[in-house]
Amino acid sequence: MTKRDYYEILGVSRDASPEEIKRAYRRLALKYHPDRNPENRKEAEEKFKEIGEAYKVLSDPEKRKIYDQYGHAGLEAEGVGAGAGFGGFDFDPFKIFEEFFGRESFGEDIFDEFFGRRTRTRERQDAGRDLHYEIELSFEEAAFGTKKTIKVPRYETCLVCGGSGVRPGSRPQSCPECGGTGYVHTTSGFFSITRTCTRCQGRGSIIKDPCRECHGTGRIRRVRKVEVKIPAGIDDGAHLRLAGEGEAGLRGGRAGDLYLQIRIKPHPIFKREENTVICEVPISFVKAALGGEVSVPTLDGPVKMKIPPGTQTNKIFRLRGKGIPYLHSNARGDQLVRIIVETPVNLTSEQKQLLKRFEELGGGNGQPRVREFLDKVKRIFKGKV
Ligand SMILES: [Zn+2]
Ligand SMILES: [Zn+2]
Repeated sequence: MTKRDYYEILGVSRDASPEEIKRAYRRLALKYHPDRNPENRKEAEEKFKEIGEAYKVLSDPEKRKIYDQYGHAGLEAEGVGAGAGFGGFDFDPFKIFEEFFGRESFGEDIFDEFFGRRTRTRERQDAGRDLHYEIELSFEEAAFGTKKTIKVPRYETCLVCGGSGVRPGSRPQSCPECGGTGYVHTTSGFFSITRTCTRCQGRGSIIKDPCRECHGTGRIRRVRKVEVKIPAGIDDGAHLRLAGEGEAGLRGGRAGDLYLQIRIKPHPIFKREENTVICEVPISFVKAALGGEVSVPTLDGPVKMKIPPGTQTNKIFRLRGKGIPYLHSNARGDQLVRIIVETPVNLTSEQKQLLKRFEELGGGNGQPRVREFLDKVKRIFKGKV
């Protein structure tokens, strides 16, 4: 089956702005949400999935670029396309939908009433929260990867009741208010209104004899040490997601995820641009003039680098393979070394004499760049100076 064009799915032009893409998604996703199309759910589901995937790709500038250039095949090569085993890229259309409308601060109640969904409401109500942490790494740790142990205060499943919230030996009872359905119907005129049961909050059951350890919540607050493996080559601002390492859900609900944002401490010598390491190395003007060897710090320790005679300030040399490793690969970037020629200061009288002598021998204004500059000045201000 050939896949349809993402732009065509959303009904926007290829140069649509992010705003237009958002608007198109908003409109179509609401129209084709399966819960709103009970009479032809199957068809709506297909459409809804397609719309979600198109939006997910086109709303991500990087993925959109790849798609624009190489189409579906390009995304599959990147492990993104739906046909390529997803490569960790989540195309769950319901998740995309909820993320989108969650961001638009669509109130949860409105959201639930709107769709009248019971299972999803319950899932959300009882799901554990996602947790967000920041991890600070040294330049080297980020380059070569490391293991970090972080202490996370979080709710965990109560071990006494196994998360059910029910005292061991007793059982939850069917809610007498709603008869176990989680819903209450009221009729007003022509309308039948369905509401979530307030007694059991839509769960359909109530706990008469709660677990004493967790007071019926099914979870307990603990500080947990979580070991995190940081992959080599991770960059500043990257996020790591540890699925299920967030807070435990209520009464056995789904656990949240733990999100870690990476911060890299500045290094006294190195700077980083993606996988390239950049450093400045100051050298004396004598060495710059005569050439020679300089010792350059790298992530693997100092290395000797040859510089040719007549090296100018700001000249950049490349040390291949001395940069940052690429994520999940053995390849490494390069290191760029910018030479800074230092003008001598605090001269002794003997040094001054030697430099004056050097200038008399043509070492001053006889140099190519100075000469070229003076020639240009002369040409521009011909006759005026
Ligand atoms: Zn318990
Ligand atoms: Zn009830």
